[in-house]
Amino acid sequence: MSRLFNFSAGPAALPTPVLERAQAEMLDWQNLGCSVMELSHRGKPFMALAQKAEADLRELMSIPDNYSVLFLQGGASSQFASVPLNLMGQKQAADYYYTGTWSRKAIAEAKRYGEINVVGDMSANNFTTLPDQGSIFVSDNAAFVHYTPNETIHGLEFSYVPETGDVPLVADMSSNILSQPIDISKFGIIYAGAQKNIGPAGLTIVIVREDLIGHALPQTPAMLNYQSQADNDSMYNTPPTYSWYLAGLVFEWLKEQGGLSVMADINQRKANLLYSAIDKSGFYANPVNSAYRSIMNVPFTLADTRLDALFLEQSHEAGLLALKGHKEVGGMRASIYNAMPYEGVEALVDFMAEFERTHG
Ligand code: PMP
Repeated sequence: MSRLFNFSAGPAALPTPVLERAQAEMLDWQNLGCSVMELSHRGKPFMALAQKAEADLRELMSIPDNYSVLFLQGGASSQFASVPLNLMGQKQAADYYYTGTWSRKAIAEAKRYGEINVVGDMSANNFTTLPDQGSIFVSDNAAFVHYTPNETIHGLEFSYVPETGDVPLVADMSSNILSQPIDISKFGIIYAGAQKNIGPAGLTIVIVREDLIGHALPQTPAMLNYQSQADNDSMYNTPPTYSWYLAGLVFEWLKEQGGLSVMADINQRKANLLYSAIDKSGFYANPVNSAYRSIMNVPFTLADTRLDALFLEQSHEAGLLALKGHKEVGGMRASIYNAMPYEGVEALVDFMAEFERTHG
């Protein structure tokens, strides 16, 4: 058996020790004579697992007591609807930063539920930079401000948290949650699909300040209503129990690594290694303003697009998986989430140098 260095944007690589543990526990979890995915979510063993996963996430992210943590379904895309449905009960408008494909999708969905003020529109720059800190003001009628701290496709990441005063800030952290410590108290809501830095697809984490729960629009489906989910410990219906279990194993693994400041340090070193390899070559290029380059998703192009297919073929042979870029941007993309070890990025930059030497 061999595991390749997997640069997939999501579903993404999981830490090998997590998969090994899941494998060892597959048939008989905790001496119960069945796998964890064959148990009732309402029984004591699974409830204990769910509580531990939440406690570990709270510890890792230093989540204050006045925030609820919800383990939901439907991906970040369902949150594109949930957020306005839950927050537009009092004011029927919101500010949305437009900084790439994922914020575009969030805006399109939110428009069904209220008036959307598009702010920080970066489309004229082809999403290669972000608004500078302090340059965007909150609209008077905004119930909340929504932004995408890391645009997974364009490889753009905010280096600051927008200041919104008393207006709740909502962040789609799908592709950078758990990559570094953050001050949760600056946010009203943080949400993330699990399939990058949390666990397998199927689970969606929502961290919501408690005073924002309970004001949903009347038509809000119960599954999307933070109140009904919080009242039912995220078990309004049958939750994705196996994804929840694996996320719990990832949280334990992150704690064993030393927590998020240790991960942030490794992530920064991985990103520096890759960006400096790109910048010092005349063959590879990344168009993003260096102040806003993503630590998690690194798109890059080759000087000659006719070499793209060969690069992908040979990188795969060299043990580097899933480097094909998103079609909107083209070229390559290396997603280097927590589960990507430093050695994986070293292997990538070595391959890139050799490819340039032979084909550049
Ligand atoms: N937001 C961001 C920033 C993403 O990267 C993604 C998935 N790539 C999504 C939203 C959509 O997530 P999901 O598939 O969980 O709905």
